[in-house]
Amino acid sequence: MNLCDYNEIKKLLSDFDFKFSKSLGQNFIVNPTVCPRMVEMSGIDEESGVVEIGPGIGVLTAELAKKAKKVVCIELDTRLIPLLGITLAEYENVEIINADVLKTDLHALIKEKFSGMKVFVCANLPYYITSPVIMALLESRINVESITVMVQKEAAQRMCAEVGSRDSGAVTVAVNYYAQAQKLFEVPSGSFMPAPKVDSCVMKLTIRKEPPVSVSDETFFFRTVRAAFGQRRKTASNSISAGLGIPKQAVINAIADCGFSPDVRAEALTMEELARLSDAVKGNL
Ligand code: SAM
Repeated sequence: MNLCDYNEIKKLLSDFDFKFSKSLGQNFIVNPTVCPRMVEMSGIDEESGVVEIGPGIGVLTAELAKKAKKVVCIELDTRLIPLLGITLAEYENVEIINADVLKTDLHALIKEKFSGMKVFVCANLPYYITSPVIMALLESRINVESITVMVQKEAAQRMCAEVGSRDSGAVTVAVNYYAQAQKLFEVPSGSFMPAPKVDSCVMKLTIRKEPPVSVSDETFFFRTVRAAFGQRRKTASNSISAGLGIPKQAVINAIADCGFSPDVRAEALTMEELARLSDAVKGNL
């Protein structure tokens, strides 16, 4: 089956009386160049295991199955399971799990399904859960080489921004702590059925072996970063004291200890400077 052919897809969906669910972020790729390019740039090879989130009707899954050793897909929408049984019938290396990715124990899944393989995540994500999925994948430190995902263009811009630049935010810092983020290519809305209102971008997060900075208390570092970026128009000292609920003087002292300008804003600070600042704030409490 040609899973990028409009008429074939329409027939398939009508045979199953399938109606797209907006709330599940169902926009399926119909541009035939997108999935092969994603797979190519993901670095997956014939020895790889792949976790795909949200296979839809299997357009990306089929490309992954041609290249990888094994593909395990997690699809929440029960209506798509029989449909995937048909569209992916020719691929013996694909397994479909009917579950919510956010409630799936990926450590256990990887251990059980991909013993001895290098594992990759590759997906056209449902956009309503982009950040929770990416942060869950990163924070749980699942054993994967990289995460290649299609996300809304603005989300990719934010996650792939340089820490210390105008576009950076708390999520930029968090992503960069765990991975090297790279925008791969943009995908216009006309590449999907139905076409979403937003443009998209494929990005690759290559998991770091070690974080790029060392902090004395990781949890406190992330709390400080979230607070610092919490009120974008305010100075870091105001945002951090309000966000962490601590005396402003303690933050002012910490900023002075680091040698930063008293009115510095979070987006002007590099990863290393944010790490130093969180340690200094902790030291001034
Ligand atoms: N991979 C297909 C493609 O590229 O055409 C479909 C991508 S579509 C943007 C997102 C898919 O994720 C849909 O199939 C949707 O049903 C599924 N999905 C939505 N929420 C999910 C969740 N919490 N867990 C797993 N799959 C989910």
